[in-house]
Amino acid sequence: MKKIVIAIDGFSACGKSSTAKRVAAKLNYAYIDTGAMYRAVTYYFLENYINLTNPKAVEDALKKIHIEFHHNQRSESNETYLNGLNVEDEIRQMRISDKVSEVSALPQVRSCMVEQQRKMGRKKGVVMDGRDIGTAVFPSAELKIFMTADFETRSARRQKELLEKDQLVDLEDIKKNLLKRDHIDTTRQENPLRQAEDAHVIDTTHVTLDEQVDMILHLAATKIIDNEPSA
Ligand code: C5P
Repeated sequence: MKKIVIAIDGFSACGKSSTAKRVAAKLNYAYIDTGAMYRAVTYYFLENYINLTNPKAVEDALKKIHIEFHHNQRSESNETYLNGLNVEDEIRQMRISDKVSEVSALPQVRSCMVEQQRKMGRKKGVVMDGRDIGTAVFPSAELKIFMTADFETRSARRQKELLEKDQLVDLEDIKKNLLKRDHIDTTRQENPLRQAEDAHVIDTTHVTLDEQVDMILHLAATKIIDNEPSA
């Protein structure tokens, strides 16, 4: 069967990652969490006191960053490795969420990440989630999804997600962080978050995870068949 690229974009905490992960597992595709890549870069920059206003320092730091995903059999999910170290827990902390949009707005960071993401999806058979996958990384992706949800739902979901990782964060702090990231992500110069013209919009406010996954699998099936080479 011919493999396709599935691009899932949208605001933070709309359920992109959970949905993308399941869709990938069902199709036996690779799952790439591009937000984790920007988070790993942010973690490296913070740990190494990289001055974001110094382009040379940013460029040199990017050369020293190597990001990989490894599958953890026990948690049945991909975990993020930065220069050989598992940083999955560290990159989900609020101190990273607070800085990540600033770091991701830097053109050098974006071009470096986009190049790696294109390599990762070159062979297709991939579900990639992020902000600019359908618009910039893979503008010719066979299937593009744009996920939305109302702000209260997103905030509550993010709080629950953090609690599951033993992080108790005040709802107001979560809301402030989401608002700040939404603003920076949609207004930055380079590849801002926006809906691709040919994206299917899924509002996840009143939809269960299983329903979201089914909707995407259904759309994917039509594309996979469309994509079949004619005899
Ligand atoms: O998906 P997640 O919320 O983990 O992403 C963290 C941040 O990484 C986003 O708020 C955004 O600033 C950045 N990002 C991006 N482009 C992507 C994925 C994430 O700029 N493709």
